[in-house]
Amino acid sequence: MHAFTSGDDETIRALLAYCLERISMDAPLDRPLTPAELEALAGGSITPAGIGGPEALRLWAEVLGPACLSVDHRRYLSFIPNAPTKAATYFDMLVAASNVYGGSWLEGSGAVYAENQALRWIADLAGLPESAGGVFVQGGTIGNLSAMVAARESALHKRGGRPARWSVCVTEETHSSVKHALRVVMDVDVVEVPGDDSGRMLGSTLRDTVHALPADMRDGIFAVVATAGTTNLGVVDDIAGIADVAEDHGWWLHVDGAYGGAGLAAPSVRHLFDGVERADSFIVDPHKWLFAPFDSCALLYRDPVQARAAHTQHAGYLDPVTVEGEWNPSDFAIQLTRRARGLPFWFSLAVYGTDAYRDALEQTLTVSREGAELIREAPHLRLLVEPELTVLIFERIGWSDDDYTAWSAKLLADQIAFVTPSRHAGQVCTRFAIVNPRTSTEDLALIIDSMK
Ligand SMILES: *Cc1c(COP(=O)(O)O)cnc(C)c1O
Repeated sequence: MHAFTSGDDETIRALLAYCLERISMDAPLDRPLTPAELEALAGGSITPAGIGGPEALRLWAEVLGPACLSVDHRRYLSFIPNAPTKAATYFDMLVAASNVYGGSWLEGSGAVYAENQALRWIADLAGLPESAGGVFVQGGTIGNLSAMVAARESALHKRGGRPARWSVCVTEETHSSVKHALRVVMDVDVVEVPGDDSGRMLGSTLRDTVHALPADMRDGIFAVVATAGTTNLGVVDDIAGIADVAEDHGWWLHVDGAYGGAGLAAPSVRHLFDGVERADSFIVDPHKWLFAPFDSCALLYRDPVQARAAHTQHAGYLDPVTVEGEWNPSDFAIQLTRRARGLPFWFSLAVYGTDAYRDALEQTLTVSREGAELIREAPHLRLLVEPELTVLIFERIGWSDDDYTAWSAKLLADQIAFVTPSRHAGQVCTRFAIVNPRTSTEDLALIIDSMK
């Protein structure tokens, strides 16, 4: 008899039944509550004696769960939604049940082996060399930061010294996580390269911008970040042009494909990513457009040895797990203890096969193209950027900020859709981000009609 036995079996059966139902159903959209509303409905739940399994589970099922938006709802189209496959979600439960330690080969060799096969699929899609490899981390934020740290260590090693200030080239549309990693975490300056009409970084503009910098600033540049699918606009930078400039200057090329990198597996848009095979590092989030549950980012390095030099943590008690030749995921990012967060994605890939991924991606692309056509045809709407992937950004002609806010709130209150206002070029607008294969053109038409 130990301290945690009371009511175990009944609660576990009820919890598993809840999971089975949630994974199989078309879950309602649900809605956020205020802290005061939750206080009134849920009150305090942590007590010295415990409230017991049935009551804690009831609290989740009736109060707390419905106060979380269903990001996998087919008409949840804001930010970047998440639409995991059933196999991936079930396997996430198995990963929890098995309590795998994913930080080292010694403790998790089977898990690391499987994750590395999933990483290999991505590396092959990108055209990275056989020697490429990396790790699944929590999300694009940690992936981008870990890549930038490896890039700077590599520059430090190559140059044998540091400049007055380090800097990295980005654009206005580069994700906030990259700029935050550079400015706040790493104290690195950011050179903002002007984008073209759709915010894309072009090799020619990058070259001109850098040429016009004072020599000491130019000398401090160690990397350039190309975005393969910007979050707000869904467009892909001129990766090949950027790679040329990076090569001429000896910079590290990082490609942030957190959202759009999944498009590598979609033949109809693969050409947009030409040049990615020249990346020194690349990320894609399976929890965005690759049908895996939160949270998972695939981080790949062209030369993992350089990354390991930057990230391996040395400590006496860790030495037995840093044996040469064994693949220790912790050596490739800014973390030690690690959930094997690539496993749900691996299992789903293994179960359904890569053709199913290709088809699901093409399905979302087709719906996006049909949605763009509906917007072009609607006299009350105007597309703001020609879509390349599955983001549609558009305005309702004549609407103010307040009009968008009221419309968006009503869609949620009526439990029809979750579509929030956005901004582009200083102007209020809205956007659809389509990563859910269950989202249909009719779903988009329904929302478009509500804007008349
Ligand atoms: C979402 C996103 C990120 C951040 O990824 P998280 O998984 O949210 O940490 C970085 N870059 C791009 C382009 C993104 O779309």
